[in-house]
Amino acid sequence: MIPQDLHIHTTYSTGDGAVEPQQTVELIAAVGHAEVTGISDHVEYLTGTAFERYSAAVRNQGFHLGAEIVNVEDVDYALSLPLEYRVFHCYDEDKCYKAAEKMVESGRPLIIAHPMAVGTDLSRVPDGCYVEINNRYIWRGDWRSFYTPWLEQFEFLFSSDAHQPHWLNQNVARYVGRELGIRETLLFSEDH
Ligand SMILES: [Zn+2]
Ligand SMILES: [Zn+2]
Repeated sequence: MIPQDLHIHTTYSTGDGAVEPQQTVELIAAVGHAEVTGISDHVEYLTGTAFERYSAAVRNQGFHLGAEIVNVEDVDYALSLPLEYRVFHCYDEDKCYKAAEKMVESGRPLIIAHPMAVGTDLSRVPDGCYVEINNRYIWRGDWRSFYTPWLEQFEFLFSSDAHQPHWLNQNVARYVGRELGIRETLLFSEDH
């Protein structure tokens, strides 16, 4: 079992074509791939009663309740929800770094999702953010030069970003972490 996986999608990400219909909260609980699990479906699909259903399904399994924000326009909505943490696509735009600051100030953990894949400039990411090593994307770029300057600056965590049952692992991300000498931060260590 891996210690922590907080970036996982389920069938509540209704408009995300990569999610398979079998990728339910219940299936993830049955697989039990991580000691501490958090679900982070796309916030744009969690409006109205969908959020209530999502929240109940996640809590019923004893999972942590998160959401992923792709569009900076959804940040205020995401801040209005009782989420334990947030996962953010921080594009290389002023408004995204500002939104990241606002979310950090909310006091709940903010995970900077796959920064290499969305062009995040880590020199502009506010202190206190957690930077992700994402199993789905990390191998696509020069992770060694991207992450090496920032190893002392940020805390890091590993994520599967699973959209399908067989993505429920962090094998490649953890290989990168070992190569870089990264020690992961466990956000909800009281669970252990
Ligand atoms: Zn993402
Ligand atoms: Zn994601």
